[in-house]
Amino acid sequence: MDKQWKLYEDLDSILYSEAQLKEAVAQLGERITRDYQGKKPVMVCILKGASVFFCDLIRQIDLPLEIDFMVVSSYGNGTSSTGEVQLVKDLGRSVNGRDVIIVEDIVDSGSTLSYLKKVLDSRGVSSLRICSLLDKPARRRVPLSVDYSCFEIPDAFVVGYGLDYAERYRNLPDIGVLAPRIYQES
Ligand code: 5GP
Repeated sequence: MDKQWKLYEDLDSILYSEAQLKEAVAQLGERITRDYQGKKPVMVCILKGASVFFCDLIRQIDLPLEIDFMVVSSYGNGTSSTGEVQLVKDLGRSVNGRDVIIVEDIVDSGSTLSYLKKVLDSRGVSSLRICSLLDKPARRRVPLSVDYSCFEIPDAFVVGYGLDYAERYRNLPDIGVLAPRIYQES
């Protein structure tokens, strides 16, 4: 942590620093660049949690890619998923015949991504892969394989680098474990 922000007082610990995230995202970008040589993938950002990761990742990929956005809701203001996923905003264009990469912030129970996979698979995509910054395998309830991921994390509620609690902490440059007193208070 380089900054002395007041927001850090709500964290129990820092899991990944800004520098570690930068390094991991650069490596992932190189891997995707290699894997998609000769292709023009459509990278789909799942808002809002993946927004910061997505903006950094696409700038590490040397391909003629396109971007699009989807909004899904499942969490409300709590710290565990309801399991019910709703599509709030759909893609702007058809992905028929395209190589699609879904970019998500974190896979927890797996409900959100298995729902999104089903939705996009039904649209005639040429290929579909899942890219998630973080993976929390201990919490998986729906079987799901993640094609690209930067870090596997333990079963803890994390915030920062786009991830929120009740819409806060997305602007933290690092990823940290939120102190339980913060969500137990509200
Ligand atoms: P799943 O459907 O896999 O249970 O949950 C996926 C969504 O839950 C993620 O996109 C994210 O919004 C939210 N989520 C899961 N775990 C965490 C966490 O530790 N921190 C935050 N901020 N969100 C989480």
